[in-house]
Amino acid sequence: MNQQIAQNQEGYFGEFGGSFIPPELQEVMNYLTEQFNIFKDDTDFKEEYQYYLREYVGRENPLTYVDRLTKEWGGAKIYLKREDLNHTGAHKINNVIGQILLAKRMGAKRIIAETGAGQHGVATATACAMFDMECVIYMGAEDTRRQALNVFRMELLGAKVVPVAKGQGRLKDAVDEALGDLVANYKNTFYLLGSAVGPHPFPTMVKHFQSIISEESKRQILEKEGRLPDVVLACAGGGSNAIGAFAHYLDEPSVRLIGVEPDQAPTLSEGVPGVIHGFKCLVLLDEEGNPKPTYSIAAGLDYPGIGPEHSHLKTSGRAEYVTVSNEEVLDAFQELSRLEGIIPALESSHAVAHAKKLAPTLPKDAIIIINLSGRGDKDVEQVFHMLKK
Ligand SMILES: *Cc1c(COP(=O)(O)O)cnc(C)c1O
Repeated sequence: MNQQIAQNQEGYFGEFGGSFIPPELQEVMNYLTEQFNIFKDDTDFKEEYQYYLREYVGRENPLTYVDRLTKEWGGAKIYLKREDLNHTGAHKINNVIGQILLAKRMGAKRIIAETGAGQHGVATATACAMFDMECVIYMGAEDTRRQALNVFRMELLGAKVVPVAKGQGRLKDAVDEALGDLVANYKNTFYLLGSAVGPHPFPTMVKHFQSIISEESKRQILEKEGRLPDVVLACAGGGSNAIGAFAHYLDEPSVRLIGVEPDQAPTLSEGVPGVIHGFKCLVLLDEEGNPKPTYSIAAGLDYPGIGPEHSHLKTSGRAEYVTVSNEEVLDAFQELSRLEGIIPALESSHAVAHAKKLAPTLPKDAIIIINLSGRGDKDVEQVFHMLKK
């Protein structure tokens, strides 16, 4: 899968990104790139996307000022961008709606996707139900056992979940299987990728659809405060909620952009340039040069690579990337719940945990926006068991 195809510089962010895939897959990606470029600026397409974001996802969601948390931390004013309030409880649906609408325009009848913990699979199955698309979700066999309830959710929503027993039965094996399906069935099938990773055009496309987050937050903070925030914080797994939360601030040098990772999957802090899943990024490698297994209490952050644009933002210095510990994450999860009545996803709790350290170091009139990527209902049972120990 590592054969480099000579192609133009499209899809590169500095030295990162690109497309490192076999020729038959490259042809499918070229066609996808062409179609995406046509439809992303098409007025009807944009109106349809906005329609479903409003009527189905429930956008725009609020930018909530949290007074008790602000006072408790004793520094900068804290605002939360409420992706947790979207239908299905996280930001992933923004991207899923955009890609399914593109799939429909391209004449696809069948959607395939990979999923690790199951969250992207559930978001995909949800939208496939509404758009009446056949839906096949590839999931590592090991992951189907650990996430039996998410498998059932996807099946309830009408999707077919295919357990992949090859390899280690994890996300990577599910990706390989989905790519095989795509090559065999590309004429009627669309591969709906869940994060800002993979070969071009996926990182660019996923960013495009997730940029709605910062398009809204920028308008909202200007309305509420009459100025831009000082800091925007987001957790980073593959990097889709973070790039969406950063996008409209990238050209505003006064806004600090900070991505937060688990200290047990410190891709941007300790990764080196390498190729995984068909693109170049900073990646955690073991002694033999293979992607290193990561362990995060937040399933959505458990990925040894990171989107190519984040790799570039880190290398170029435009964005900062930090890590937090499990203990700090659990603490943040409980504190936001107790003080504000908002139970955050464990992934999002990473961003909250870093904000807790940063806020007291900033003046009281400084503004921090935390992108609350999802709600924590899915994590309550896990946290219950972790806290009992
Ligand atoms: C999947 C997920 C993430 C991580 O994915 P990104 O592509 O890095 O955004 C973060 N938060 C939540 C709630 C998720 O479901």
